[in-house]
Order: sequence, then C-alpha cells, then structure tokens
Amino acid sequence: MTDKPRLILVLGDQLTDTLAGLRQADPACDVIVMAEVMTESTAVPHHPQKIALVLTAMRKFAHHLTAEGYTVAYSRLDDPETGPSLPAEILRRATEHGADHLIVTTPGDWRLLQALEAVPLTVTMLPDDRFLCPPETFTAWVSERKQLRMEWFYRDMRRRTGLLMDGDQPIGGQWNFDPENRKAAKPDLLRPKPLRFTPDAETEAVLSLVETHFPTHFGNLRPFHWPTDRAEALTALDHFITHSLPRFGDEQDAMLADDPFLSHSLLSPCINLGLLSPLEVCQRAEAEYHAGRAPLNAVEGFIRQIIGWREYMRGIWALNGPDYPTLNALNHKAPLPAVYWGGKTKMACMKAAVAQTRDLAYAHHIQRLMITGNFALLAGIGPAFVHEWYLAVYIDAFEWVEAPNTIGMSQFACGGQLGSKPYVSSGAYIDRMSDYCSSCAYKVKDRTGPDACPFNLLYWHFLDRHRDRFAKNPRMAQMYRTWDKMAETHRDTVLREADQLLSALHSGAPI
Ligand SMILES: Cc1cc2nc3c(=O)[nH]c(=O)nc-3n(C[C@H](O)[C@H](O)[C@H](O)COP(=O)(O)OP(=O)(O)OC[C@H]3O[C@@H](n4cnc5c(N)ncnc54)[C@H](O)[C@@H]3O)c2cc1C
Ligand code: SF4
Repeated sequence: MTDKPRLILVLGDQLTDTLAGLRQADPACDVIVMAEVMTESTAVPHHPQKIALVLTAMRKFAHHLTAEGYTVAYSRLDDPETGPSLPAEILRRATEHGADHLIVTTPGDWRLLQALEAVPLTVTMLPDDRFLCPPETFTAWVSERKQLRMEWFYRDMRRRTGLLMDGDQPIGGQWNFDPENRKAAKPDLLRPKPLRFTPDAETEAVLSLVETHFPTHFGNLRPFHWPTDRAEALTALDHFITHSLPRFGDEQDAMLADDPFLSHSLLSPCINLGLLSPLEVCQRAEAEYHAGRAPLNAVEGFIRQIIGWREYMRGIWALNGPDYPTLNALNHKAPLPAVYWGGKTKMACMKAAVAQTRDLAYAHHIQRLMITGNFALLAGIGPAFVHEWYLAVYIDAFEWVEAPNTIGMSQFACGGQLGSKPYVSSGAYIDRMSDYCSSCAYKVKDRTGPDACPFNLLYWHFLDRHRDRFAKNPRMAQMYRTWDKMAETHRDTVLREADQLLSALHSGAPI
C-alpha cells in the first residue's frame, strides 16, 4: 500500500453507504470523487426533473459522506473548473491529489463503463453488489436454458431471498398472482396519493441551476416533489407501504386519465439511485403481509416487480453488452413522431401519457408498455429512437433498466429474448384497462373509417406486415386466424387506412 490517495468514484446513481467502492475507501487518505458534468446531463436530453433529482441527491449524499469523515472532491456543474466529461474530471482530480489509482463501482451504462475503463490511471472496476443477482449467476442461469422466462428466474430469486416462502414452497401455494392483478380501476377521490416532498434550500438551488442550464429539454421542472435523500426515501417507502400497497395488486395494470399514480409506489427513482435497497423494500412489503395489513396478491405482485423484473432486466442488460440498444429484429426505421415530444394528437391515450410524462417525468408500467410503447411498435418506429426517448424522459431511467424494458420488452427488438410474443394490442385492451377512450376523438369500436381508433388499424397492419415472423407463433396463431377470416375487402380497407395513417404520422401531420 502506497501513501498516495486513491480516487473512489461515486456516480449519481450510486448513492448508497454500502456501495462496493465506498467499502474499499480508507477515509484517512482516499478521496471520494463526485462530479456533475455536462456530458452526463446531455448524452440524451434528460427531463429537467430527472437532472434536478440526480444532482440534488448527489449533493446531499456528498454532505453525508463528508459528515461521515470522508474527503469528498465534489465538482459542481456551474464551476468553470469542472471538466466537460467524467474522464476529464477524474484526471483533473488525479493531478490535484497526486493519485494514480481509480476505484469504480461498475456503472449501469455501457458508454460510461467503457469510458471509465479507458481512463489512463490504474482502474479497479468492482461489481455493483447492490443487485441481488450477480451477472455471473444470471449468465449461468441463462446457459442452462433453451428459452428464457422471467417466471423461472423469479422463482429462483424467491428461493434465494426466502421472500414469501414457506420452506421451499411459495406462501399461499402459488408463485404468481398476476391473473388477479388485471382489474380496471374507477376514479376514487379517497385513493391515497403518493407523498409529495417540498423542495428544501439545497433542492431549490439545483432547480434554479437546471432552469438556467437546460431550458430546452422536454419536460416541466416544477412542481418538483421527489424525495432526494435517504431519509425522505424512507418516508416515501413508509407512506407507500401503509397507504397504497394493499391496493397495488388490484390496480397494477389499470390506467385513469385523472389519476397518473393509482396505487403505484413511485419508488423506482429511490431504488435506482441507491437511496433504498431492493431487498429492504421487499422485506417491508412482506412484513405487511405477515401482519395482515396487505393481501398476498398485492405483496407478491410488488415483490415480483423488484426481485423478478428488476433483477431480470439487469441480467439481460449485462448479458447483451454495449450493442444492445442497436438491436432491431423487426427492422423498424421510422423516426419518433412529434406526439412523443408533446406534438398535437387527437388520441386521448397518447395525449394523456405524454402530458403526464412532461409534467411528472413519470408514467407507470402499463402506460409505458401498452400506450407509448405499443404505439411506437405498431407504427414501426426505430427502436433506438424509442430507447433514447425513454432514457430521456423518465425520472427513473438508467440504461441498465430502461434498455431491456424498451429494446427487449416493449419493442421486441431483440427478437423474442424477453418474451415469446410482442406487447401489441388494439384499442380494445386500452378501453378495457383505462377510461381514456370515453373522451377520445376516435371511436374505439370503429375498426375502419375516419374515426377508427389508430390502435385498431395499426394492430392488424403490424400483424400483416410481420406475418412471416409471427404467424407460426402458437401464442399468436389465433390472431392470424381471426384476421384471415375477415372479408378480403375489409382487410384491404384496414391496410389502406393504416398506410394512410402511417404516411400522415411520418410526414409530421398530427393524428
Ligand atoms: C418501455 C419501458 C421503459 C421502462 N423504463 C424504465 C426505466 O428507465 N427505469 C425503471 O426503473 N423502470 C422502467 N420501466 C419499468 C417500470 O415501468 C417502472 O419501473 C415503473 O413504472 C416505476 O414506477 P413505480 O416505482 O411506481 O413502480 P411500481 O409499479 O410501484 O413497481 C414497484 C417497483 O418494481 C420495479 N419494477 C416494476 N416493473 C419493472 C420493470 N419492468 N423493470 C424493472 N423494474 C421494475 C421498480 O423498481 C418499481 O419501483 C420501463 C418499462 C417500460 C415498459
Ligand atoms: S380510442 Fe384508441 S386512440 Fe382513443 S383513447 Fe382509445 S385506444 Fe387511444
């Protein structure tokens, strides 16, 4: 051991006391490097609330580390000395402190990971063990299977964590209560709302900074009510567990125009930034079941999202490597239509999902998957464009979780690695699960004609143009039979009107 200090990098989504890098740090001599750099805020045009959340949470975590006795070299975005990129800033700090060794906890973004590996210092890359399933374990699990299914992975994770287990059997005799979690919801003024945090002085300072530096990014900065440190994150967790968890299962897939949150937790930014650990969140939920305060379908559904989907997505991201966002199995190439950036549309569902995204930097899973994602897939948008949009606009978006959800799950761009069938639907599904259609200019029951719901036209157009790939898929065969049974003249009309709709959309006309 030399007496030179080592630089320990802590990234904006690594705000955890027990981070692998911090566990290596010797507070007596090492320097913790935290940096707000322009390239990380503009790699895609991140939503102003997301930039504000990450910078505020970084600043507060830096104060916390300083109070714990660490030496923190913190670089602010508006400090003229701050380098333009993370590697540049790390080299500046290395010179300043006479350091030649950088310790990094593996980032969840391939671009950054590669850039940090290339920094001309001795770089030690530590595994990010805040995830419950290490990449090697996931790769070994994959290598034992012909077909990947999240459900089998999830059951292994239940066994491994012991969550909701009775010996080696699932509590309640059933692993998965998803079929009970597909109910529509009704407006309910008494439905508990997520907790809103009033910005403190530190947060206000960052809000002003973001206002000055990112005025053109899509999205409203204010009002800003996200939790920004661990204490607030714990309060948000308590609030969700006490008030919304009991209804989480029943309302998980529902969508309401005037209720963007329903009974969702809004905890993804806290977990992704490292303010809450995935296991502690699940254990809190499990305790509610054992105390008789939340039903099993809610608790199981919630835990499945975290130790199932979240960990699975991390595994898929790590498995696929840096080229993952360029996958395009369906050869979709159209640009992202203006409606995604708030352009005019008559479609009530798209309008609501995008407006909510602009105002809150948040949409829940079914809005992302079955409204904006479904529409992009049906309309043949290039998956890389869709990926950049999701990465930019959501408060919780980091490549390791956003890319598998978008490229893999939503856009079928990896050709079925993440699901045997694409997540597409006509308007009927949206009508069943939401109240959007009742106020829409289009008619969800119309299958052709000037008022026909665009999802209806595009759904059949999608199936028709991808017949070679999907007609033999057992899970889709019934849909092809239904299509083939329709009168030829009707099919021709659907395809012609869908073509017209796509031409209008891709030429920039509002639809
Ligand atoms: C196209 C698309 C893009 C997405 N991009 C992101 C993203 O960038 N970041 C992100 O965290 N999630 C993403 N998701 C997954 C999911 O939509 C969000 O995790 C969820 O909406 C966050 O809101 P919540 O905390 O209220 O979730 P809840 O409904 O309350 O769920 C509880 C927790 O489960 C986890 N979770 C649920 N579903 C998933 C999932 N599919 N993948 C990973 N974790 C999940 C989250 O940690 C979430 O906080 C995406 C989904 C789709 C379809
Ligand atoms: S009718 Fe179609 S476009 Fe309108 S809200 Fe319903 S699903 Fe969306």
